[in-house]
Amino acid sequence: DADRRWVMSVRHVEGGAKLVTLRDRTDSWIAERMRVDFVANASHELRTPLATILGFIETLSEGRAAEDAAIRQRFLGIMLGEAKRMQQLVDDLISLSRIEADRFAVPQTSLALGPVIDEVAGVIRSGMREGGERIQLSIEPVPDVRADRVQMGQLLHNLIGNAIKYARPGSPIRVSLDRVQGKVRLSIADESEGIAPEHLPRLTERFYRVDAGRSRSIGGTGLGLAIVKHIAERHRATLDIASKVGIGTTVTVTFPVMSSENLS
Ligand code: ADP
Repeated sequence: DADRRWVMSVRHVEGGAKLVTLRDRTDSWIAERMRVDFVANASHELRTPLATILGFIETLSEGRAAEDAAIRQRFLGIMLGEAKRMQQLVDDLISLSRIEADRFAVPQTSLALGPVIDEVAGVIRSGMREGGERIQLSIEPVPDVRADRVQMGQLLHNLIGNAIKYARPGSPIRVSLDRVQGKVRLSIADESEGIAPEHLPRLTERFYRVDAGRSRSIGGTGLGLAIVKHIAERHRATLDIASKVGIGTTVTVTFPVMSSENLS
């Protein structure tokens, strides 16, 4: 099997016989390869904006460009944009490593998700120049879940943010909270070109993007869904991304409910 990695060891035993052991090391091999890829990707993502900023600093320090106020303003605008991209990337990398560091500790705080959704939607609407009414909320009364408030805010921010980034201009983004089969279900649905089925299983990989150029130009780091996946795992919630090409995408996060028997 070409996809598996085996480690073979040979030991001589009594009577001149040989004992051959084969150990399947595929898991640690994959983990190591992912770590190497991650460092390479993160460095590359940081190097690109840094190179742009350095290029513009050099041009400005050569003189002529700095004397022309219009050119200077334009260059500074580009440098600011690139620096912001680096900042977003570093912030996302820090979030990801923090969440990963305590992935085994399930948050114990009881949290009502409804008000968190209201708050995040309010913040996003106030940051949008127009189209804030596109975000439509449908919040039913549901039991509290055990969750970290800050991480829930980040999960919502990333998912609603993606819907805004990738949906058709002006189309509605529906955020709903309800209860199904004793669990609390949060879903974010958008109307967009959708995502082809072959990409779906890879969307939560770090730096995986369907269209890297488009994602970068609209400010994506490629880490948003990886962060969402880790937050969901830490909360013992399931994450499901369903998409229909030409129709849209629905992301659903389903939380277990706090119950008296597992409160101990
Ligand atoms: P990014 O920062 O690039 O948005 P994410 O990890 O949040 O990174 O998402 C990974 C990729 O998944 C995106 O680049 C985009 O191609 C795709 N994607 C995520 N959410 C949606 C959505 N709601 N509709 C269409 N494509 C999406």
